[in-house]
Amino acid sequence: MEHNSSNFIRNIIKEDLETGKHDHVITRFPPEPNGYLHIGHAKSIILNFGVADEFGGKTNLRFDDTNPLKEDIEYVNSIKEDVKWLGYDWDNLFFASNYFDEMYDRAVLLIKKSLAYIDDLNADEIREYRGTLTEPGKNSPYRDRSIEENLDLFEKMRNGEFANGEKVLRAKIDMTSPNINLRDPVIYRIAHAEHHNTGDKWCIYPMYAFAHPLEDAIEGVTHSICTLEFEDQRPLYNWVVEQCEMASIPQQYEFGRLNLTNTVMSKRKLKQLVDEGVVDGWDDPRMPTISGLRRRGYTPEAIRAFCYEIGVSKAYGTIDSQVLNHFVREDLKLKAPRTMGILKPLKVVITNYPEGQVEWLEAEINPENPEMGTRQIPFSREIYVEQDDFMENPPKKYFRLFPGNEVRLKHAYFIKCEEVIKDEEGNVVELRCTYDPETKSGSGFTGRKVKGTLHWVDATHAVPAEFRNYQPLILDEEPNEEEEEKTFLELINPHSLEILQGFVEPNMKDIQPQDKYQFFRHGYYNVDPKHTTEGHLVLNQIVELKSSFKL
Ligand code: ATP
Ligand code: MG
Ligand code: MG
Repeated sequence: MEHNSSNFIRNIIKEDLETGKHDHVITRFPPEPNGYLHIGHAKSIILNFGVADEFGGKTNLRFDDTNPLKEDIEYVNSIKEDVKWLGYDWDNLFFASNYFDEMYDRAVLLIKKSLAYIDDLNADEIREYRGTLTEPGKNSPYRDRSIEENLDLFEKMRNGEFANGEKVLRAKIDMTSPNINLRDPVIYRIAHAEHHNTGDKWCIYPMYAFAHPLEDAIEGVTHSICTLEFEDQRPLYNWVVEQCEMASIPQQYEFGRLNLTNTVMSKRKLKQLVDEGVVDGWDDPRMPTISGLRRRGYTPEAIRAFCYEIGVSKAYGTIDSQVLNHFVREDLKLKAPRTMGILKPLKVVITNYPEGQVEWLEAEINPENPEMGTRQIPFSREIYVEQDDFMENPPKKYFRLFPGNEVRLKHAYFIKCEEVIKDEEGNVVELRCTYDPETKSGSGFTGRKVKGTLHWVDATHAVPAEFRNYQPLILDEEPNEEEEEKTFLELINPHSLEILQGFVEPNMKDIQPQDKYQFFRHGYYNVDPKHTTEGHLVLNQIVELKSSFKL
């Protein structure tokens, strides 16, 4: 696959192979199954699978399932589906929970080496004793328990003799270390909870900082790639691998996580949007989840091209969402059939067109990709145009329909607005127009010119369709810089979804979920897989045709 972007991690791996530090490459993508994957995870997936692939290596999909309280098999299944959809195939599928026995044994080893102890302090006390950036921590009064006592208490913890929070196992490192992560981090805690994989076999669970390096080492991972927030944890990562006497030594590398404008990406916040009913599920087309992007109509090709373009670096930063939109347009330009659809219908009667007559006009399916062939569009006495393409009293330089004005109907004829029909409240409900048979599209007519070209749909053959137009769900450009929880829900755009009942060309009546079209003047749309039923077509707007954004 694509490899032509800046990526310092690839250079490290290349050097490790050249110098003989490694003779093979194993990476892993390690999601916690506590939510659905989002576009940030896609960056990590593409990086991990991409570099391994480039150097003939392997990539594991590993579920980092060490916290039973938040994890669920629904998330496991969605994550597998999303990784596959993005175009990747793991070499091994692993669960961290399958290593719980070995992790327990390694913890016992630390106790035996006097490098771990059972602490009775509660969470608040531990935090208090930990100190701050400017103040050293102080030792817990339980730090000097004997090895025998620690072994005995740890076994009792495992056997369920204590309640949640009553005791923890801590690594014994250095309470005065300038790196707070090394001030005797908690490595095991008690959680009497059902685990999606191990059931009730365990009531103690390893903490991320202890479990993750062990998982990497057990699997023989060579390059363990994570995001920058974990940079300060690297010394602890190395301590765990070394002191637990792991045979294989993985190395951690950090890169800058992806942030997008007007997008929140933390799974916790996305879950809140789902739980509070702000969106219709993890796969709502406004969500930055992989399943949301899929349902909106983004393609794996566009997401991959986007991730390669933005590259991998050590820097923090926020990428304009328009960059992603640029890549979906690029991908769909030649693939998506062109069509016409009316989102806000206004009926037009063509008074000089014979009643009962229908003619079928030929139109290219995609003028930029002629191999896609042609389609047939019916034309008759009654058609729909957009309400927004008519003005009774237009400003200067308005070239669409108004009384007395002539426009071109795409693929059909010139029509001229002769009469405006209104209802009792004065709303325009219909236009009476005439057409000129000599102006037929493709006939080579040059007699006179018109400035406006409108899209339209034949009224007697039109297929009803529901159009769903989207605006960003989050109003703030850089919502991730928001520190306070409470402000996040206040940033939600109340107008992020607009639903319109319109019509499409009759040749679209059999289109399937996930089919993508480019609508003349409206942009790209995807057939919604959730709400589309037999006889009810729902189209999600993917992107508008143009943006001001230039790459
Ligand atoms: P979140 O903070 O959104 O809940 P997480 O980091 O807790 O995400 P994990 O399931 O642990 O989610 O993530 C799996 C992998 O994806 C990790 O290696 C993590 O570093 C990476 N990842 C998560 N978010 C991003 C992001 N925004 N950009 C790049 N990589 C990411
Ligand atoms: Mg995580
Ligand atoms: Mg998280």
